[in-house]
Amino acid sequence: MTKQDILRQYFGYTAFRGGQEALIDAVLAGRDVLGIMPTGGGKSLCYQIPAMLLEGITLVVSPLISLMKDQVMALKAVGIPAAYINSSLTPEQISLVCRNMLDGRYKIVYIAPERLEVGSMIDLIRRLPIAMLAVDEAHCISQWGQDFRPSYLKIIDFLENLPRRPILAAYTATATQAVREDITAILQLQNPLEVVTGFDRPNLSFSVITPKGKPKKLLSLVEARKEKSGIIYCSTRSAVERVCDSLREQGISATRYHAGLTDEERRENQDAFIRDEMAVMVATNAFGMGINKSNVNYVIHYNMPMSLEAYYQEAGRAGRDGTPAECILLFNLGDVRTATTLIESSEDKVDLTEAEREQLRTLRFMRLNQMIDYCKTTKCLRGVILDYFGQNHSESCGSCSNCQTTFTQRDITREAQMIFSCVKRIYDKLGYYVGKALVVSTLQGSTRERVCALGLQDLSTYGLMREKQRADIRALVDYLIERGYLAEGEYNTLRMNPEAANVLFRGEQVTMPMKEMTLEDVVEELHQAKQTKRSRKKRPQATVNEYHSATDILYERLKAVRADIARFEHVPPYIIFSNATLMDMAMKKPVSVDELLTVSGVGSVKAERYGAYFLEAVVDFMNEKIKF
Ligand code: ADP
Ligand code: MG
Ligand code: ZN
Repeated sequence: MTKQDILRQYFGYTAFRGGQEALIDAVLAGRDVLGIMPTGGGKSLCYQIPAMLLEGITLVVSPLISLMKDQVMALKAVGIPAAYINSSLTPEQISLVCRNMLDGRYKIVYIAPERLEVGSMIDLIRRLPIAMLAVDEAHCISQWGQDFRPSYLKIIDFLENLPRRPILAAYTATATQAVREDITAILQLQNPLEVVTGFDRPNLSFSVITPKGKPKKLLSLVEARKEKSGIIYCSTRSAVERVCDSLREQGISATRYHAGLTDEERRENQDAFIRDEMAVMVATNAFGMGINKSNVNYVIHYNMPMSLEAYYQEAGRAGRDGTPAECILLFNLGDVRTATTLIESSEDKVDLTEAEREQLRTLRFMRLNQMIDYCKTTKCLRGVILDYFGQNHSESCGSCSNCQTTFTQRDITREAQMIFSCVKRIYDKLGYYVGKALVVSTLQGSTRERVCALGLQDLSTYGLMREKQRADIRALVDYLIERGYLAEGEYNTLRMNPEAANVLFRGEQVTMPMKEMTLEDVVEELHQAKQTKRSRKKRPQATVNEYHSATDILYERLKAVRADIARFEHVPPYIIFSNATLMDMAMKKPVSVDELLTVSGVGSVKAERYGAYFLEAVVDFMNEKIKF
């Protein structure tokens, strides 16, 4: 068998994706590898295929029980004998797996890193021919990353205990140079082939919305996507509770996940979501790494995450099957405050020296600032993400909320002058600088106690911007800070930089890009447009739209068939076939096993196991059509 045969026969795919082939070839040639691909890029195949071709067993270290369970389930479904060893098994079950390993029944065994230091396990593994050790989610070994797991460090001791060093293969979606170097150094990869694939996920569309009220906005976003599966990420447990309750009150099928729940409830809620019994999962970032659910149609961030890296990983859980999916971030300034507090109060996971602690803090703030830039930028959002990963891209992707918004440059020189003179007048009067809020209040002509107590109502700039909304004045001030005319100093006081003098006295112009529509309008419109495009497809032009509606109807039927099988076999629907596979099937309308095998994602085992049910549904459907 060749790698191509395995790709086709077991997994049902015709071509390798970027990076897969090179990584597989290197492993087969006995070389260590480090594979860096985005979430959904197809890292699993990079070790699963060589595992099938190498003599002996491949051990896969994986950080989460749910992840192992999912992968083993998927392997078994395509006919590859696999197992896992972790704390979810009873001692009897573990010894059964061990016996089977000794009998050579498995090609692939997933193992929790904690298990690697159990004496009996080491003794057993020493007696087995271990061809390769694959480290999935390898960034967990680096404490610079988001998901450091001390137990991953046990991998090194374990390797030293083996009579023969296996091929080492590490995979991650984390592209940061520091993390990459950590993986190579800590795992002691030997002359590894390092493959970094493109980070773009063309089927994802990105939006940032700054809504007036998040709860209301969220509800309307979710309601507009009612029949779809989505994840809503919140930054705290209490936000998860609040959001989940309010969605449920509105009759939305939502469940929740965070570290404060019992193990049992977490498991139940996760299963309900994975099996499509619940449409929406509201969760903290504790949810997701172990989730391979491929038919998530949207990910909404109710709060801004702590870094672009974290954002892309979480948002990337949408559309893993390659079908179009949405990543929406709800942003307001409160998020910046929350994030700052989280960093200030974060406890470090291992003992660090004072200097290292400081370094980590600086790093976290740097990441946070990049994240904030993403939320505020008027540039292409996909472009900002790809910049972060150091990848070239075209100037505009055409599909993100910024590319879909027209910005006009508005001259704000007069407003800028008003703001600068106000800052200056306050300083002249008081002899010290005050905070942003007080400057805004003064410009607005507010009668707040502090304004009056300091006598600011006597200034000539008092009430100069009376006709403006408070939020608009704030936005102007923020923009002037961003452009470097103003700066926020100690105790958050607002000061003027020398550049402001050019605007005040030397006629320099300031312009600010303004949206012709608010971003939320755009997202709403985008969504509406998609909906109407879909329904429009069904009406005019007889041939084209008939084709589309027939495909849509068949797709729904195939999904129903899948749901029946999944329920019967007690597995999540996507383990049977992904949405992308059912979509391809609905388009190709296979009526024989040979035709079925041409559908992407249908391998010989699945064709044999489930083919009859799906073929029957297609044939029935075709017969009905002929009768019409
Ligand atoms: P990652 O671990 O990189 O996040 P996975 O290994 O879970 O990604 O793969 C994501 C999805 O892509 C899976 O549904 C998988 O079956 C599919 N996939 C992987 N390789 C290919 C390929 N060569 N052709 C088509 N689909 C693929
Ligand atoms: Mg993976
Ligand atoms: Zn764009």
